[in-house]
Amino acid sequence: MDIHGGERRLLDATPKGLYIAGRWREAAASFPVEDPATGRTLCEVADAAPEDGRAALDAACAAAESWAATAPRERGEILRRAYQLMVDRTADLGRLMTLEMGKSITESEGEISYAAEFFRWFAEEAVRVAGRYGREPAGGYRILTTRGPVGSCLLITPWNFPAAMGTRKIAPAIAAGCTMIMKPAALTPLTMLAVAQLLEDAGLPPGVLNVVPTTSAAAVTGPLLDDPRLRKLSFTGSTEVGRDLLRRAAGNLLRTSMELGGNAPFVVFEDADVDHAVEQAVIAKMRNIGQSCVAANRFLVARPLVDTFAHGLADRMGRLRLGPGTAPGSDVGPLVEEKARTKVTALVEDAVARGAKILTGGAVPSGPGWFYPPTVLVGVPTQADMFRTEIFGPVAPIYGFDTEAEGIALANDTEFGLVSYAFTRDLSRGLRAVDRLQTGMVGLNRGLLSNPAAPFGGIKHSGIGREGGAEGIEEYLTLKYAAVGD
Ligand code: NAP
Repeated sequence: MDIHGGERRLLDATPKGLYIAGRWREAAASFPVEDPATGRTLCEVADAAPEDGRAALDAACAAAESWAATAPRERGEILRRAYQLMVDRTADLGRLMTLEMGKSITESEGEISYAAEFFRWFAEEAVRVAGRYGREPAGGYRILTTRGPVGSCLLITPWNFPAAMGTRKIAPAIAAGCTMIMKPAALTPLTMLAVAQLLEDAGLPPGVLNVVPTTSAAAVTGPLLDDPRLRKLSFTGSTEVGRDLLRRAAGNLLRTSMELGGNAPFVVFEDADVDHAVEQAVIAKMRNIGQSCVAANRFLVARPLVDTFAHGLADRMGRLRLGPGTAPGSDVGPLVEEKARTKVTALVEDAVARGAKILTGGAVPSGPGWFYPPTVLVGVPTQADMFRTEIFGPVAPIYGFDTEAEGIALANDTEFGLVSYAFTRDLSRGLRAVDRLQTGMVGLNRGLLSNPAAPFGGIKHSGIGREGGAEGIEEYLTLKYAAVGD
């Protein structure tokens, strides 16, 4: 299928090179970026080799000292301009994201707005980095603490939120005075290249941000992780890859932030408002076509409510329209690639083989693109593979429970600990759930909680550190203590 008109102009206007030291560079090789709704190739992007990664680190290190010395207000104002440019360019950035990633234009534009808010939030935080000063307890001298940039950082992001997962790292790093090398996912490099252009337009000096798309992630980033000039790794992606990167980062004693996989429980207690729970369940499940680390992965419902909840959810999910993200009226775009759809299909087949019943969806449509329909399953046994696996697709399995304690125990029965959702009208039960759910975040009577002003992150195998909120900038700061004598 040909690409023409506005989409061709948009793709032509998007940079496709490596962004190193403030210049767009060619690479020895290139790789295709595909539209998951059609399988067509959108364009070719420069494919960084290890020497390009090294050049990016050289550039980040060369810029580090002068960038760290800039006034916090100056960094804040660059971020504020970047926020405004991102808002102004929402339509183009949103369409570009839909073309390479698949979600609907409405969802892409929503992500652009969310991504831009990280620039605004950290523009405001840049000028609030403080230290302290006081006398030591015996009064002999003074304690002075200051906080400064951690240094040059390697940032690695996934394909599912091509803009927001990047700005959630870039914005605090800029605010703190760090320089960086960004490696976006090979499936969706275009949005990040457009963000790099936007930051240049906002006045970010050369070398502060360097972007190296590559199909050789390990070969390009491995030597950087071993290089003593690098001081931090911030990674968002799967737990499996995160664990490997942590091992490698240990060799160089890097500061690390890890935003990893999830297996979110969505617990509906017997006193919940079921209609509200269903409405929020659609949001918690279907955002990003189910391809989100905070997607509700296990619907745990008090037995007396299972029937009403399941049919309510099946009705709402069954009415969503499947289609290319660029098509008007489409609610649910394709999954990102064939492998993703094969995995979702296998998980549903496994659950059905173990006795689950499909209330809606469950059949792969014919035609091009990696579409999978919104699917609701009831009677899913906890032995099903999907109880333990991040589904990463539009599939909602419903499990029943009898008591509050059983509901919480089932929710916690996973090595992941990113987010949980709990629905109840009883405030005491809700607060008990917040206390007992073993996750870094809880949505209490809410299915959406991502907010640049709040600390996002997990515990257990879901990660280390927090992004966003007042905490987000701490990940890019290092503390110094001086003992000050008379
Ligand atoms: P992934 O396979 O772990 O990839 C994430 C990033 O790491 C990509 O840029 C990838 O590059 C790169 N990568 C892969 N192997 C690498 C290696 N050996 N060395 C260096 N870099 C490497 O994850 P994904 O499939 O893109 O993303 C989905 C996962 O991310 C899910 O588990 C989801 O839960 C998680 N996620 C977590 C959060 C959070 O905030 N906790 C947010 C979003 C997503 P290539 O893609 O180019 O190979």
